Amino acid sequence: MNVTFKDKVLSLYRRTIRKHKLLKIPMLVLSVILLFLDHVARRIQSGARRYIAVLASMTFAFVSCSFSSVIWGEGEYDFTADVTSYYYETEESAAAFAVEDEVDTELIDADDSDDDDLIDPENIKDISELDTVSGADIIGSIDDIDISADEEMPVDEAQDDHPDFSRDDWQLVLVNKNHPIAEDYSFTLGTIKGAMQCDERILADLYAMLEGALKDGVNLVICSPYRNDDRQQMLFDRKVDKYTAQGMSYMEAYKTAAQAVTIPGSSEHQIGLAIDMVSDSYVSLNEGFGDTTAGQWLAAHSYEYGFVIRYPEGKEDITGIEYEPWHLRYVGKNAAKVLYEEDLTLEEFWEKYL
Ligand SMILES: [Zn+2]
Repeated sequence: MNVTFKDKVLSLYRRTIRKHKLLKIPMLVLSVILLFLDHVARRIQSGARRYIAVLASMTFAFVSCSFSSVIWGEGEYDFTADVTSYYYETEESAAAFAVEDEVDTELIDADDSDDDDLIDPENIKDISELDTVSGADIIGSIDDIDISADEEMPVDEAQDDHPDFSRDDWQLVLVNKNHPIAEDYSFTLGTIKGAMQCDERILADLYAMLEGALKDGVNLVICSPYRNDDRQQMLFDRKVDKYTAQGMSYMEAYKTAAQAVTIPGSSEHQIGLAIDMVSDSYVSLNEGFGDTTAGQWLAAHSYEYGFVIRYPEGKEDITGIEYEPWHLRYVGKNAAKVLYEEDLTLEEFWEKYL
């Protein structure tokens, strides 16, 4: 019996799909390509050339088949990725575009070596590389500042149980990936110490908190409070440039950069109301800080001074940011008390009271 090339291909096709139903479409494509190329080769009508053509086509088909099975077979392309990965990002990668599955994090790590002059503080988990100042240093040097002035009007005592909160209150401004900083937002910087700055309106409460912690034996260490827009933009642009130079498309570079550096305009640090703090006995910006004496002191007492743990544990799906026990946000004493007592995030507070 004269078995033709076509018979062989069809029999291979039938045998394969009987064993592996998933291969039906790739095999169909492969068979069509083989038969087509065989047809072309026949028309060339030259023995040696024909076999070379068939061999080449099989190699081509094999390679393209392997390639498509990588894409479809192992499910590496996760269509739900941009929904699920919104949550559990770090503050630095809170952009809606950050799709972790598509990003080579090793690339980010390996690539930071020559950026020593442009460190993004929260991307460095060991604060020894950053400017820091401790509560003891600050309080020791500002004896002439009257940090008790604010205590004359105790929290809420002079107010209703539910004071009226206003959306226009600077203390309550909501900044997250859905609420970028307004273009006309303005405030005055005050100096904490040295080059450390924040919104000057929170200085008195900040000093009071540092002193209150010291009295309880906790020496808080401030690192990276205010960061200006230019610096944030420069950090971000440099990353994007670097990744595009490595051959990424602009969107790929943007996504990758968003993993390493906060997208400009979406960080509370840029409006001077956020302060990262750890302690002199625990100097890493990581979740472990929450279990330390200092971390627990902040969780229990910061609200008394108008501050809250902005990205609490268990609320990642609401804030869109992973647990950051070191990131304190000033919201004012009245709101902080409500957030603390009702266990609300700023997002939930806005929904309920504003
Ligand atoms: Zn922070």
